[in-house]
Amino acid sequence: MKIALVKEIEVGENRVALIPDTVARLVKQGLEIWVENGAGEASFFSDRAYEEAGATLVSDPGKLWAEADVLVKVGIPKDDEINQMREGSTLISFLSPLGKPEVAQKLANRKVTAFSMELIPRTSRAQSMDALSSQAGVAGYKAVLIAAAALPKFFPMLTTAAGTIKPSKVFILGAGVAGLQAIATARRLGAMVEAFDIRPAVKEEVESLGAKFVEVDLQEDTVAEGGYAKEISEAAKQRTQEVIAERVKQADVVITTAQVPGKTAPLLVTEEMVEQMSPGSVIVDLAAEQGGNCAVTEAGKDIVRHGVTVIGPINVPASMPTHASQMYAKNISTLLQYLVKEGQLHLDFEDDIVDNTCITHAGEIRNQRVKDALS
Ligand code: NAD
Repeated sequence: MKIALVKEIEVGENRVALIPDTVARLVKQGLEIWVENGAGEASFFSDRAYEEAGATLVSDPGKLWAEADVLVKVGIPKDDEINQMREGSTLISFLSPLGKPEVAQKLANRKVTAFSMELIPRTSRAQSMDALSSQAGVAGYKAVLIAAAALPKFFPMLTTAAGTIKPSKVFILGAGVAGLQAIATARRLGAMVEAFDIRPAVKEEVESLGAKFVEVDLQEDTVAEGGYAKEISEAAKQRTQEVIAERVKQADVVITTAQVPGKTAPLLVTEEMVEQMSPGSVIVDLAAEQGGNCAVTEAGKDIVRHGVTVIGPINVPASMPTHASQMYAKNISTLLQYLVKEGQLHLDFEDDIVDNTCITHAGEIRNQRVKDALS
């Protein structure tokens, strides 16, 4: 069985789906790995390192797309890539199945078996395949560095001969995987950190990282299946708004990470709140690509409004490609090893990992939510 690692062609996508160390492990287990020339270049993994790990380098991407049994990737393939895939081959990648269900349709038409890394179940059993978490961790860390670089102040308290510097105040909205990593990073840089989330269960985790949890009694259930957040009612939104407004006003840095699966990101920071912040303050909106948590955010832009810098970075994990790729490669290779039995792909649709993640097979879209998103 030939597994192909292709080079990402989307502008700004610097990650790669397998790194040489992972390739070496897969080769040891008897898998044949083909690597497109330059596939790891943007994340600083050389062709030579892949070759030394036991991969076969292939210069013609067309050969990889047309002849491989399994293709592994980071981002959504382009139409002309999909069109080269052969019937019965397999693709494993982030495929944005709910945001771009038409891609699933094209893959089904091509009779490709497609696994979408966004749909790995968030269970302990699937933890080492959980690419949403690994990449969210990278984004949370980097968001704090982006904020610190844009802030005209120190993060830590400093006692110097030139006087005492007060620590910066950082407010983090959404304490999921990205938010918790942002809290940990801002704390390591010495800031005073507060965080808010509509899921009360995260209070303990926030506090264990040395931050203060901002509590709001929402008077309703906020947790959906799988531990994800639900969209909250208008009344609950109003309750949160007053508390958020007060914390935002006090903060030097606001980092927003709030998401509700399958929905546009909740609007949490209004323009009036931005206006209330001190000039020089910084907002980094990690939900920029999903519509933004801040009314001022524009995806891919840094905007200065009322003296506040509002940053809406896109594809943040790709800005730290070496470690983001290392972690993603671990997720991909664990899934591959899980699926391959005696040198062949074995698809047991009774298994929740396979059932959840496999969105197309034998010419059909398998996932009801993806079908619904198409209609
Ligand atoms: P996410 O990216 O979907 O959302 C980020 C955070 O935004 C969440 O914590 C959510 O509660 C919060 N949020 C949503 N609406 C909000 C609002 N109006 N105001 C404030 N905050 C709001 O979340 P995620 O990081 O992908 O994590 C989702 C869930 O999955 C969590 O319960 C997490 O613990 C769980 N999880 C489990 C595992 C595992 O068991 N292996 C792994 C990863 C995540």
